[in-house]
Amino acid sequence: MTEKKDPRGLVLIHTGNGKGKTTAALGIIFRALGRGMKCGVIQFLKGKWETGERKFAKTIPELDFHVMGLGFTWNSDDLDKDKAAAKAAWETSSQMILEGNHEIIVLDEITYAFHYDWLQVEEVLAVLKRRPSHVHVILTGRRCPESLLDYADLVSLIEAVKHPYQSGFPAQKGIDF
Ligand code: ATP
Ligand code: MG
Repeated sequence: MTEKKDPRGLVLIHTGNGKGKTTAALGIIFRALGRGMKCGVIQFLKGKWETGERKFAKTIPELDFHVMGLGFTWNSDDLDKDKAAAKAAWETSSQMILEGNHEIIVLDEITYAFHYDWLQVEEVLAVLKRRPSHVHVILTGRRCPESLLDYADLVSLIEAVKHPYQSGFPAQKGIDF
């Protein structure tokens, strides 16, 4: 334990192969909304399936919830449009981070975008470094790049010890989506 510092916005990363990265981030949002804090979530996943969190978010005025590709105009081939949708999601995210109107922002599954080369880690790091001092950012996803882990204040590596999927149970409503 080193000397105590004044509170400031933190960068939190939930990574690893176990279940709980997104749900832990949403758990923090649940807690923060209870504190009257304005929150944002950007999901870097294609918005094909309805999820419980998306449905619920629509009912919460203090929560801005964006899903990659929803409301997006496709005008090129498949690979290009995924990249363009990821870029648009990042555009929304970086604006939200720099504006400072939200106190906690979740970049859900953003590591996916690095993996497919839709987004550059350096670009994200540069925006995180410029965030207003009261803004917390949570990044989730498997195989998080080292430079982000180095910069973060908190890194939780979630290990997969057991998952019902391995015993043949499909994803369950309320638990997984
Ligand atoms: P969740 O959204 O449930 O917190 P997560 O964000 O930790 O999961 P993702 O990699 O985003 O994990 O995976 C999303 C989906 O995959 C969820 O339905 C989750 O239950 C499932 N999943 C997560 N980890 C595993 C695993 N080790 N084996 C099988 N399925 C998994
Ligand atoms: Mg997830």
